[in-house]
Formats: sequence, C-alpha cells, structure tokens
Amino acid sequence: MSSVKTETELNSFLKAVFQGHIEESYVFPYPEIPADTKETVAAFTDAYKDFDAAFIDSDKIDHEHFFPREAIKGLGDLGALGMVIPEEYGGSGFSATAYCKTMETVGPLDSSAAIVIGAHQSIGIKPLLLFGSDEQKKKWLPDLATGKMVGAFALTEPEAGSDAASLKTTAVYDAETDEYILNGTKQWISNGGFAKFFTVFARVPSEVPEKHKEIACFAVVTHEDGTLPGLTRGVEEKKLGLCGSSTTQIILDNCRVPAWNIIGGKGNGFRVAVETLNTGRTSLGAGAVGGSKAMIKLAVEHATQRKQFKTPIANFEIIRHKITKMVANTYALESMVYLTAGLVDRYIPDYSLEGACCKVFGTEALWDNINEALQIAGGNGFMNEYPYGRTLRDSRIYMIFEGTNEILRLYIALSGMKEVGSELQNVQQALKDPVRSFGFLSEFAQRRLRGVITNAKLTKVHPLLAPEADYVGKYVTALANAMQLIVWNHGKNVVDRQYQLERVANIMIDIYAQIATLSRVTSSMLKKGLEKSRPEIDIVKWFCHQSRHRIVSNLKSLEKNRDRDCTEISNAVYEAGGYAWDLWD
Ligand SMILES: Cc1cc2nc3c(=O)[nH]c(=O)nc-3n(C[C@H](O)[C@H](O)[C@H](O)COP(=O)(O)OP(=O)(O)OC[C@H]3O[C@@H](n4cnc5c(N)ncnc54)[C@H](O)[C@@H]3O)c2cc1C
Repeated sequence: MSSVKTETELNSFLKAVFQGHIEESYVFPYPEIPADTKETVAAFTDAYKDFDAAFIDSDKIDHEHFFPREAIKGLGDLGALGMVIPEEYGGSGFSATAYCKTMETVGPLDSSAAIVIGAHQSIGIKPLLLFGSDEQKKKWLPDLATGKMVGAFALTEPEAGSDAASLKTTAVYDAETDEYILNGTKQWISNGGFAKFFTVFARVPSEVPEKHKEIACFAVVTHEDGTLPGLTRGVEEKKLGLCGSSTTQIILDNCRVPAWNIIGGKGNGFRVAVETLNTGRTSLGAGAVGGSKAMIKLAVEHATQRKQFKTPIANFEIIRHKITKMVANTYALESMVYLTAGLVDRYIPDYSLEGACCKVFGTEALWDNINEALQIAGGNGFMNEYPYGRTLRDSRIYMIFEGTNEILRLYIALSGMKEVGSELQNVQQALKDPVRSFGFLSEFAQRRLRGVITNAKLTKVHPLLAPEADYVGKYVTALANAMQLIVWNHGKNVVDRQYQLERVANIMIDIYAQIATLSRVTSSMLKKGLEKSRPEIDIVKWFCHQSRHRIVSNLKSLEKNRDRDCTEISNAVYEAGGYAWDLWD
C-alpha cells in the first residue's frame, strides 16, 4: 500500500513533489524544441514584427486609450488569432511551446495587442477548445481562427472576483424554445468592446443547490454586426495600463441563448472555467520572459553608455548585482515556462501547479525587472519619452488577473496539502484495521520515527552541479515532512492557515525553479560542452544560491515565526481604521 503513485500513474509532476517524490523522467532531459517548431515560430514572429512596425503605434494607443479596429482585423489576417486552433478548423495548431514563444515575442512589442490575442485564445475560446463538442467546434472555430469573430471570457462580476464560484448571473431554462434566458452583469471583460463570441458563466438553478455544481458555460454569440438582443456592452474602462485593450462590462438582460450553446455540460461550468484558466497561465509566464529580456537589453544599453564618476555605471557593483539578478530570474523563468510547455506538449494530464508557478514567479520577476531597469536608468526612467513607465503600468495587472498571485499561492499550497492529506487519510484508514494494514503502518511509522518521510533525490543533474542537486533533494524531503506535520496538526483547518500556506507555496515555486534551471543547464552542458556553458552554469549556481536562502528562511518560519504578532497587529490596525501610532499625536 504505497500512497505515491508510480511513474505511469503520475498525473502531475509537482503534486508528487509535494509528497517527496521527484519523478525525473518528467523533467529530464530538458525538452528539446523541434526544428520545425523553431521554423514555424520564426516565420510567424518575423511577420508579426513587420505588422507591429507598420500598424501598431504603442504610444498613440496608450495615449488615446484605443486599439485601432483595423489592427484587430490585421491580427486576424496574420493568423495571430488562430494560433492554438487546430488546422482542421482553419487555425495553425501551434503546440504549447510554439504558442509560448510567440507570446514571448508579441507581449513586449505591444501589450494591448497581446491582450487582444491572449484574451481571445488563452481564455476566451479555450472552453470551446477544451470542452466543446465536435459540432460546436465546427460551427464556431473557423470564424474564430480568422478573426471574423473575436472571443472573450466572461466570468468576473462586481461581487464575484477571486471567489468566482459565487457568481450571480442566472440562466433560466425556457422549455418552449429550448433556450436559456441569461440575466446578470459581467465586469472587466477583456475584448468586451468588440468581441462577438463570449464564453459566459452563469448559474443554472438546480434542485440541490451547490455553489460549484450549478454553473454552466454558455457560448453567447452575437450577430455579424456585433449586436444581440439582451446583450449590452458597457463603456470602456479607463485603466492604469494596457490602455488600448478593451475592458468593458457585459450586461445581460433577458438575453436568450440556445441550450445547444452550453459548453462542457450543464453542471460543469466551474470546472470549465478553472481548467481554462489553468491552461492559460503558462503563456502569461512566457509574456513575462519577453518583457524581462526587453528590460535587460535596455538596462545593459544604459548602464554601459552612461558615465558617472568618470566611469560607466555598469562597472559599479550595485549595478552589476541588479543586472545579475535580472538575468538569473529571467533564466529561471524561461526554464520553468518551456519545461511546463514541454509537459503540456507531452500530454501530461495535470500541469496546473506548474502553470501557476510560472504565472506567480513570472509576473513578479517581470515587475522586479522593470523596476530595476527603471532604477538603472535613473531620472530618465521616470520620463515618459522612455518606455519604462508604460511597461511598468502595463505589467501591473499580470499579478492580478487570471487568478491573483495570492489565490494562486493558496492554490499551489492547498493542492499539495490535498495530496499529503490523502496519504494521511490512508494512515487513518489503516488505523481502523491495523492488523491487515500492518505493513503499511509500520513502514509509515518507521519513516516518521526516522523523521524522514522520503529521501528525494535529483540524480540526472550534471555532476558539476551535484551540490545544487543535493540541496533540491534535501528541500523536497524537508517540505514533504513539514507538510505532513502541518496537515497532521491542522487537519481541515489548514485551509485557513494562510501564513503557512504562503510559505509552502513560495518554497514549492523555488523548488520548481531550481529543478527547471538544473535540468536546462544539464542539457546545455551536454550539448555545448563545459566551456561554452560556463556563463549559464554561473547563472544557475547564482540563482540556486539565492533561491536556497529563500527556501531555508521559509522552512525555518514554518516552525518558528511571529505569525501571532501579525494577527494582533492587523487586528489593531483594522480596529483603528488605519495607522494609529502617529509620532505627533
Ligand atoms: C484589466 C483587467 C482585465 C480583466 N479581464 C478579465 C476577463 O477577460 N474576464 C474575466 O472574467 N475577468 C477579467 N478580469 C477580472 C480579474 O480576473 C479579477 O480582477 C481578479 O480575478 C480579481 O478579482 P477582484 O478584482 O474582484 O479582486 P478580489 O477578489 O476582491 O481581491 C482583492 C484582493 O484580495 C485578495 N484575496 C481575495 N480572496 C482572498 C483569499 N481567499 N485569501 C487571501 N487573499 C485574497 C486578492 O488576491 C486581492 O489581492 C480583468 C480585470 C482587469 C483589471
């Protein structure tokens, strides 16, 4: 009776890591990018760059808060809206790896264009791609591939943000017409101003009310002119960034939708929404890779050209540290994104944790990289004639949408707790029948007595990086042990132990980042030889060193912390309604 699944049964790499098991065949060798994928992506991104140069004026778009409608048509003509749609429906059938590389290129060129493309493909039409019937795909995908129809994903409501399952939009069945009548307001819908294909999530009342199980996903499709009785688009929101992208309310007032338009089954809408978001997150990480590379380029250009104290500022060690940090985090992010995309392309069933790690690490690394590049630019960084300000504004939303980084940290940690919880349930089950389960129990007890639940190891890392690999094994084991204790101590209440959950998620993100970088550099060393891989080895060693400090600090804080103070302080602040210790009072 073993609770860790074998290689062939394993659905998710990181879920097994939470149990102290590193299934190396999932992450070694680092995925090779096929030559034909490189060619296809290069042809597309070259064409895209030409299109961007000719038709997309980012400053104007940002200033006027408007993305030209001809450019949307141009994106369709270019094939940018059909990248992930299978060829049989008129799309390009890009792999996850190809899509990520494209989004890496598209993102930094113009963020608003990237949102048109991403809101359409990463989320808007994803429910149809993942859960649509053949007939539904045949009916809608060809027009979605060419951009004749643009898609949008309508989940959020004024009262239902992170708690999306509490949505209030209703869908009431009319048996006479075999239609559903939709009522409700969707908020902040990207592409809302011009989309003609909306995936709308609504509550279908059922006899047994259950928050998650009475939601359905509807394809709400407008007429060719963009109108539909009962559907109104709100005014364009004025935003901090992504100013050209369209963000509107979608108001549904007795909007009739054929029952045939339900995607993925009547009570399955919440699963459709969650899986759509889970699959879209890796590409957000890819966009962050592109943005970070652009920032490094600017920072290096400025640092090497700008002289102060008669020397280029690039020579100062504080500046070197900033550049190294930017590069190491970008290298780690890139390694995570394409490792995850490789898992998707190998049809590993569950890559939701890996995608969440890419999104959280990537969006925060990008934010930090922009901030550092701006700092290196000094006063120039603050001037609107340089791109830092717009990039900073545009990138801020990435930590908020498609699951806030707080919610994703909870998701990462709680998914791990669930895996650990199921082993402990096995223990509890076995305790009820100790005689027949003696072998399992004594094995578990022995491991607990030794204080080591597992002895995780990374064996396929290049020997030159053996110390780094050993540390990863050690921390995976330490995390698995800590998780057992947390679940054992808190039981179901663990869902509310957010101080601890945040630490667990941060440790896991760092572990995944280290595994990804070690796998990638090992492949590089084998392919390019030691001499040519030297800078990469240095980057990986530097990154793992920093990452180790974070892990150690988080592991220590799992045991010893001042969480109670945190609760007391915040309580006092809430009670006072703000800062209550003004020195001058
Ligand atoms: C520009 C833009 C485009 C968008 N595009 C779309 C779109 O196309 N389709 C769509 O459906 N939605 C879209 N959204 C909505 C977006 O997904 C939500 O804003 C996001 O899910 C967060 O919801 P909220 O804003 O209501 O914040 P809240 O859920 O109110 O959260 C506020 C804060 O509380 C934190 N928080 C919430 N719950 C918890 C918890 N349990 N534990 C700890 N912290 C918590 C959050 O992390 C956040 O920091 C868009 C939003 C913006 C701004």
